[in-house]
Amino acid sequence: AAKEERGMFAFFEAGMDESLRERRGLEADLRLALQRDEFELYYQPLYNLPEDRVTAFETLIRWNSPSRGRVMPGDFIPLAEQTGLIIPIGEWVLRTACAEAVKWPAHIRVAVNVSSVQFKDKRLASIVREVLERTGLAPERLELEITETILLQDSETVLTTLLDLHAMGVRVSMDDFGTGYSSLSYLRRFPFDKPKIDRSFVGDLAAPAANGDMAAGGEAPWRLTRSALLIVRAITGLGSGLGITTTAEGVETVHQFEQMRLEGCKEVQGYFIGLPRPASEIASMCSVLDAS
Ligand code: C2E
Ligand code: CA
Ligand code: CA
Ligand code: CA
Repeated sequence: AAKEERGMFAFFEAGMDESLRERRGLEADLRLALQRDEFELYYQPLYNLPEDRVTAFETLIRWNSPSRGRVMPGDFIPLAEQTGLIIPIGEWVLRTACAEAVKWPAHIRVAVNVSSVQFKDKRLASIVREVLERTGLAPERLELEITETILLQDSETVLTTLLDLHAMGVRVSMDDFGTGYSSLSYLRRFPFDKPKIDRSFVGDLAAPAANGDMAAGGEAPWRLTRSALLIVRAITGLGSGLGITTTAEGVETVHQFEQMRLEGCKEVQGYFIGLPRPASEIASMCSVLDAS
Protein backbone atom coordinates (compact mmCIF):
# COMPACT_ATOMS: atom_id res chain seq x y z
CA ALA A 1 0.00 0.00 0.00
CA ALA A 2 2.90 2.32 0.87
CA LYS A 3 4.37 1.86 -2.57
CA GLU A 4 1.04 2.58 -4.23
CA GLU A 5 0.65 5.73 -2.19
CA ARG A 6 4.08 6.92 -3.19
CA GLY A 7 3.14 6.16 -6.77
CA MET A 8 0.01 8.22 -6.39
CA PHE A 9 1.96 11.04 -4.82
CA ALA A 10 4.60 11.03 -7.56
CA PHE A 11 1.81 11.09 -10.13
CA PHE A 12 0.12 13.97 -8.35
CA GLU A 13 3.40 15.91 -8.22
CA ALA A 14 4.10 15.31 -11.87
CA GLY A 15 0.59 16.57 -12.62
CA MET A 16 1.22 19.69 -10.57
CA ASP A 17 4.54 20.28 -12.35
CA GLU A 18 2.84 20.02 -15.66
CA SER A 19 0.03 22.44 -14.90
CA LEU A 20 2.49 24.83 -13.28
CA ARG A 21 4.70 24.69 -16.35
CA GLU A 22 1.67 25.26 -18.54
CA ARG A 23 0.64 28.24 -16.46
CA ARG A 24 4.15 29.72 -16.59
CA GLY A 25 4.19 29.28 -20.35
CA LEU A 26 0.81 30.94 -20.70
CA GLU A 27 1.95 33.80 -18.49
CA ALA A 28 5.16 34.28 -20.50
CA ASP A 29 3.18 34.37 -23.76
CA LEU A 30 0.61 36.71 -22.24
CA ARG A 31 3.34 39.12 -21.14
CA LEU A 32 4.52 39.42 -24.74
CA ALA A 33 1.09 39.52 -26.35
CA LEU A 34 0.54 43.25 -25.85
CA GLN A 35 3.84 44.39 -27.36
CA ARG A 36 3.41 41.90 -30.19
CA ASP A 37 -0.04 43.26 -30.92
CA GLU A 38 -1.77 39.88 -30.65
CA PHE A 39 -5.02 41.10 -29.10
CA GLU A 40 -8.06 41.91 -31.15
CA LEU A 41 -11.40 43.36 -30.21
CA TYR A 42 -14.69 41.92 -31.35
CA TYR A 43 -17.93 43.85 -31.07
CA GLN A 44 -21.39 42.47 -30.32
CA PRO A 45 -24.51 44.59 -31.00
CA LEU A 46 -26.98 45.69 -28.31
CA TYR A 47 -30.40 46.24 -29.76
CA ASN A 48 -32.71 48.88 -28.30
CA LEU A 49 -36.33 47.64 -28.41
CA PRO A 50 -38.26 50.94 -28.08
CA GLU A 51 -35.98 52.56 -30.68
CA ASP A 52 -35.89 49.47 -32.89
CA ARG A 53 -32.22 49.83 -33.73
CA VAL A 54 -28.72 49.02 -32.56
CA THR A 55 -27.63 51.59 -29.99
CA ALA A 56 -24.41 50.06 -28.64
CA PHE A 57 -21.71 47.45 -29.15
CA GLU A 58 -20.02 45.47 -26.39
CA THR A 59 -16.27 45.01 -26.74
CA LEU A 60 -15.02 41.42 -26.31
CA ILE A 61 -11.31 40.67 -26.37
CA ARG A 62 -9.70 37.86 -28.40
CA TRP A 63 -6.08 36.73 -28.27
CA ASN A 64 -4.61 35.56 -31.57
CA SER A 65 -1.58 33.70 -30.29
CA PRO A 66 0.89 32.48 -32.94
CA SER A 67 1.52 29.28 -30.95
CA ARG A 68 -1.90 28.71 -29.35
CA GLY A 69 -4.28 29.97 -31.98
CA ARG A 70 -7.40 31.89 -31.01
CA VAL A 71 -7.63 32.09 -27.23
CA MET A 72 -10.97 33.14 -25.69
CA PRO A 73 -11.09 35.56 -22.74
CA GLY A 74 -12.28 32.90 -20.30
CA ASP A 75 -8.95 31.14 -20.86
CA PHE A 76 -6.63 34.07 -20.14
CA ILE A 77 -8.46 36.87 -18.31
CA PRO A 78 -8.30 35.04 -14.94
CA LEU A 79 -4.51 34.65 -15.28
CA ALA A 80 -4.20 38.25 -16.44
CA GLU A 81 -6.07 39.26 -13.28
CA GLN A 82 -3.88 37.13 -11.00
CA THR A 83 -0.67 38.51 -12.50
CA GLY A 84 -1.77 42.14 -12.76
CA LEU A 85 -1.37 42.02 -16.54
CA ILE A 86 -5.04 42.96 -16.77
CA ILE A 87 -4.08 46.56 -15.94
CA PRO A 88 -2.13 47.25 -19.19
CA ILE A 89 -4.38 44.90 -21.20
CA GLY A 90 -7.51 46.60 -19.88
CA GLU A 91 -6.09 50.00 -20.69
CA TRP A 92 -5.33 48.85 -24.25
CA VAL A 93 -8.93 47.57 -24.58
CA LEU A 94 -10.35 50.89 -23.37
CA ARG A 95 -8.13 52.96 -25.66
CA THR A 96 -8.76 50.78 -28.72
CA ALA A 97 -12.52 50.58 -28.16
CA CYS A 98 -12.89 54.36 -27.68
CA ALA A 99 -10.72 55.10 -30.73
CA GLU A 100 -12.94 52.75 -32.73
CA ALA A 101 -16.24 54.13 -31.39
CA VAL A 102 -15.54 57.74 -32.41
CA LYS A 103 -15.90 56.55 -36.02
CA TRP A 104 -19.46 55.25 -35.44
CA PRO A 105 -22.72 57.17 -35.78
CA ALA A 106 -23.16 59.41 -32.73
CA HIS A 107 -26.16 57.49 -31.32
CA ILE A 108 -24.10 54.32 -30.95
CA ARG A 109 -22.29 53.75 -27.65
CA VAL A 110 -19.50 51.37 -26.78
CA ALA A 111 -19.52 49.04 -23.76
CA VAL A 112 -16.19 47.94 -22.27
CA ASN A 113 -15.73 45.18 -19.69
CA VAL A 114 -13.69 46.28 -16.71
CA SER A 115 -12.17 43.73 -14.35
CA SER A 116 -12.50 44.18 -10.59
CA VAL A 117 -8.69 44.37 -10.49
CA GLN A 118 -8.83 47.47 -12.69
CA PHE A 119 -11.69 48.90 -10.69
CA LYS A 120 -9.80 48.61 -7.42
CA ASP A 121 -6.94 50.60 -8.99
CA LYS A 122 -7.25 54.21 -7.84
CA ARG A 123 -6.06 55.46 -11.23
CA LEU A 124 -9.01 54.05 -13.19
CA ALA A 125 -11.11 57.23 -13.35
CA SER A 126 -8.15 59.34 -14.47
CA ILE A 127 -7.17 56.75 -17.11
CA VAL A 128 -10.73 56.85 -18.43
CA ARG A 129 -10.68 60.66 -18.49
CA GLU A 130 -7.36 60.72 -20.35
CA VAL A 131 -8.53 58.14 -22.92
CA LEU A 132 -11.73 60.09 -23.58
CA GLU A 133 -9.81 63.33 -24.05
CA ARG A 134 -7.23 61.75 -26.29
CA THR A 135 -9.70 59.86 -28.51
CA GLY A 136 -12.34 62.60 -28.48
CA LEU A 137 -15.15 60.19 -27.56
CA ALA A 138 -18.02 61.87 -25.69
CA PRO A 139 -18.21 60.41 -22.15
CA GLU A 140 -21.94 59.67 -22.63
CA ARG A 141 -21.00 57.20 -25.36
CA LEU A 142 -18.93 55.03 -23.03
CA GLU A 143 -20.38 52.33 -20.79
CA LEU A 144 -18.23 50.35 -18.41
CA GLU A 145 -19.45 46.86 -17.48
CA ILE A 146 -18.51 45.65 -14.03
CA THR A 147 -19.60 42.69 -11.94
CA GLU A 148 -20.81 42.93 -8.40
CA THR A 149 -17.78 41.07 -7.00
CA ILE A 150 -16.19 44.52 -7.22
CA LEU A 151 -18.55 45.79 -4.55
CA LEU A 152 -17.67 43.01 -2.13
CA GLN A 153 -14.16 44.40 -1.90
CA ASP A 154 -12.63 47.75 -1.14
CA SER A 155 -15.84 49.75 -1.30
CA GLU A 156 -14.21 53.09 -0.38
CA THR A 157 -12.12 53.26 -3.59
CA VAL A 158 -14.90 51.63 -5.58
CA LEU A 159 -17.48 54.18 -4.50
CA THR A 160 -15.11 57.10 -5.19
CA THR A 161 -14.39 55.74 -8.67
CA LEU A 162 -18.07 55.17 -9.38
CA LEU A 163 -18.90 58.73 -8.37
CA ASP A 164 -15.99 60.14 -10.42
CA LEU A 165 -17.12 58.23 -13.51
CA HIS A 166 -20.68 59.36 -12.94
CA ALA A 167 -19.61 62.99 -12.63
CA MET A 168 -17.73 62.62 -15.92
CA GLY A 169 -20.89 61.35 -17.63
CA VAL A 170 -19.64 57.80 -18.19
CA ARG A 171 -22.25 55.09 -17.62
CA VAL A 172 -21.71 52.00 -15.52
CA SER A 173 -23.57 48.72 -16.07
CA MET A 174 -23.77 45.80 -13.70
CA ASP A 175 -22.89 42.68 -15.67
CA ASP A 176 -24.25 39.17 -14.97
CA PHE A 177 -26.96 40.78 -12.88
CA GLY A 178 -28.90 38.49 -10.56
CA THR A 179 -26.20 35.83 -10.17
CA GLY A 180 -24.55 37.33 -7.08
CA TYR A 181 -25.73 37.42 -3.52
CA SER A 182 -26.82 41.01 -3.23
CA SER A 183 -27.52 42.32 -6.70
CA LEU A 184 -30.72 44.08 -5.73
CA SER A 185 -29.30 45.83 -2.68
CA TYR A 186 -26.22 46.95 -4.65
CA LEU A 187 -28.42 48.51 -7.27
CA ARG A 188 -29.93 50.56 -4.52
CA ARG A 189 -26.70 51.53 -2.76
CA PHE A 190 -24.43 52.27 -5.71
CA PRO A 191 -25.01 54.61 -8.65
CA PHE A 192 -25.49 52.15 -11.51
CA ASP A 193 -27.05 53.07 -14.80
CA LYS A 194 -28.01 49.66 -16.07
CA PRO A 195 -28.41 46.07 -14.91
CA LYS A 196 -27.54 43.41 -17.50
CA ILE A 197 -29.67 40.37 -16.74
CA ASP A 198 -27.42 37.33 -16.76
CA ARG A 199 -27.89 35.03 -19.70
CA SER A 200 -28.60 32.05 -17.44
CA PHE A 201 -32.05 33.50 -16.68
CA VAL A 202 -32.78 34.25 -20.31
CA GLY A 203 -31.61 30.75 -21.28
CA ASP A 204 -33.95 29.16 -18.74
CA LEU A 205 -37.07 30.75 -20.17
CA ALA A 206 -39.48 28.14 -21.47
CA ALA A 207 -39.61 27.46 -25.16
CA PRO A 208 -43.21 27.48 -26.40
CA ALA A 209 -44.47 23.90 -26.72
CA ALA A 210 -46.28 23.03 -29.95
CA ASN A 211 -49.56 22.49 -28.08
CA GLY A 212 -49.13 25.59 -25.93
CA ASP A 213 -48.55 23.46 -22.83
CA MET A 214 -45.86 25.05 -20.66
CA ALA A 215 -45.52 22.13 -18.26
CA ALA A 216 -44.39 19.63 -20.88
CA GLY A 217 -41.19 18.78 -18.99
CA GLY A 218 -42.69 17.99 -15.57
CA GLU A 219 -42.41 19.93 -12.34
CA ALA A 220 -38.70 20.69 -12.05
CA PRO A 221 -38.31 22.39 -15.46
CA TRP A 222 -41.58 24.19 -14.88
CA ARG A 223 -40.32 25.69 -11.62
CA LEU A 224 -37.04 26.64 -13.31
CA THR A 225 -38.63 28.40 -16.27
CA ARG A 226 -41.26 30.02 -14.08
CA SER A 227 -38.68 31.42 -11.64
CA ALA A 228 -36.47 32.59 -14.52
CA LEU A 229 -39.41 34.53 -15.92
CA LEU A 230 -40.23 36.01 -12.52
CA ILE A 231 -36.61 37.08 -11.99
CA VAL A 232 -36.49 38.74 -15.42
CA ARG A 233 -39.79 40.46 -14.62
CA ALA A 234 -38.57 41.66 -11.21
CA ILE A 235 -35.30 43.10 -12.56
CA THR A 236 -37.02 44.77 -15.52
CA GLY A 237 -39.72 46.19 -13.24
CA LEU A 238 -37.10 47.52 -10.85
CA GLY A 239 -35.23 49.07 -13.76
CA SER A 240 -38.22 50.86 -15.19
CA GLY A 241 -39.26 51.98 -11.70
CA LEU A 242 -35.82 53.52 -11.29
CA GLY A 243 -36.01 54.98 -14.78
CA ILE A 244 -33.02 53.05 -16.07
CA THR A 245 -32.51 50.73 -19.03
CA THR A 246 -32.42 46.99 -18.44
CA THR A 247 -30.48 44.78 -20.83
CA ALA A 248 -31.01 41.06 -21.32
CA GLU A 249 -27.97 39.08 -22.45
CA GLY A 250 -27.89 35.71 -24.15
CA VAL A 251 -31.00 36.18 -26.31
CA GLU A 252 -30.68 33.27 -28.72
CA THR A 253 -34.19 32.69 -30.07
CA VAL A 254 -37.04 34.71 -31.50
CA HIS A 255 -39.15 33.45 -28.59
CA GLN A 256 -36.74 34.88 -26.00
CA PHE A 257 -36.58 38.10 -28.00
CA GLU A 258 -40.38 38.47 -27.98
CA GLN A 259 -40.59 37.56 -24.30
CA MET A 260 -38.09 40.28 -23.42
CA ARG A 261 -40.12 42.79 -25.40
CA LEU A 262 -43.29 41.70 -23.56
CA GLU A 263 -41.56 42.07 -20.20
CA GLY A 264 -40.66 45.64 -21.07
CA CYS A 265 -36.94 45.02 -21.29
CA LYS A 266 -35.37 47.97 -23.13
CA GLU A 267 -32.29 46.38 -24.61
CA VAL A 268 -31.32 42.90 -25.79
CA GLN A 269 -28.06 41.23 -26.75
CA GLY A 270 -27.27 37.72 -27.94
CA TYR A 271 -26.69 35.43 -30.87
CA PHE A 272 -30.24 36.03 -32.11
CA ILE A 273 -29.40 39.73 -32.62
CA GLY A 274 -25.82 39.33 -33.71
CA LEU A 275 -22.58 37.51 -32.99
CA PRO A 276 -19.44 39.26 -31.78
CA ARG A 277 -17.63 40.39 -34.97
CA PRO A 278 -14.47 42.34 -35.86
CA ALA A 279 -14.62 46.15 -36.07
CA SER A 280 -14.56 46.08 -39.87
CA GLU A 281 -18.07 44.56 -39.88
CA ILE A 282 -19.76 47.12 -37.67
CA ALA A 283 -21.12 49.31 -40.45
CA SER A 284 -22.80 46.38 -42.18
CA MET A 285 -24.16 45.02 -38.88
CA CYS A 286 -25.85 48.35 -38.15
CA SER A 287 -27.50 48.67 -41.54
CA VAL A 288 -28.68 45.04 -41.65
CA LEU A 289 -30.05 45.10 -38.11
CA ASP A 290 -31.70 48.51 -38.32
CA ALA A 291 -33.49 47.54 -41.50
CA SER A 292 -34.99 44.38 -40.01
P1 C2E B 1 -19.56 38.78 -20.55
O1 C2E B 1 -19.15 40.18 -20.27
O2 C2E B 1 -20.74 38.24 -19.82
O3 C2E B 1 -19.75 38.73 -22.13
C1 C2E B 1 -20.74 37.97 -22.78
C2 C2E B 1 -20.21 36.63 -23.24
O4 C2E B 1 -21.31 35.86 -23.72
C3 C2E B 1 -19.24 36.73 -24.42
O5 C2E B 1 -18.32 35.64 -24.34
C4 C2E B 1 -20.16 36.55 -25.61
O6 C2E B 1 -19.51 36.09 -26.78
C5 C2E B 1 -21.12 35.53 -25.06
N1 C2E B 1 -22.44 35.60 -25.71
C6 C2E B 1 -23.00 36.64 -26.36
N2 C2E B 1 -24.25 36.34 -26.79
C7 C2E B 1 -24.49 35.06 -26.41
C8 C2E B 1 -25.61 34.17 -26.57
O7 C2E B 1 -26.64 34.49 -27.17
N3 C2E B 1 -25.49 32.93 -26.03
C9 C2E B 1 -24.36 32.53 -25.36
N4 C2E B 1 -24.32 31.30 -24.88
N5 C2E B 1 -23.28 33.35 -25.19
C10 C2E B 1 -23.35 34.60 -25.71
P2 C2E B 1 -16.74 35.86 -24.49
O8 C2E B 1 -16.47 36.82 -25.61
O9 C2E B 1 -16.11 34.51 -24.52
O10 C2E B 1 -16.34 36.59 -23.15
C11 C2E B 1 -16.43 35.92 -21.92
C12 C2E B 1 -16.17 36.84 -20.76
O11 C2E B 1 -14.84 37.33 -20.78
C13 C2E B 1 -17.05 38.09 -20.78
O12 C2E B 1 -18.32 37.76 -20.27
C14 C2E B 1 -16.26 39.01 -19.90
O13 C2E B 1 -16.52 38.74 -18.54
C15 C2E B 1 -14.83 38.60 -20.19
N6 C2E B 1 -14.22 39.58 -21.12
C16 C2E B 1 -14.33 39.67 -22.48
N7 C2E B 1 -13.63 40.72 -22.96
C17 C2E B 1 -13.07 41.32 -21.88
C18 C2E B 1 -12.23 42.49 -21.71
O14 C2E B 1 -11.86 43.20 -22.65
N8 C2E B 1 -11.85 42.79 -20.42
C19 C2E B 1 -12.26 42.05 -19.34
N9 C2E B 1 -11.85 42.40 -18.12
N10 C2E B 1 -13.04 40.97 -19.47
C20 C2E B 1 -13.45 40.61 -20.72
CA1 CA C 1 -20.02 42.14 -20.30
CA1 CA D 1 -22.46 39.18 -18.87
CA1 CA E 1 -20.15 36.61 -17.81
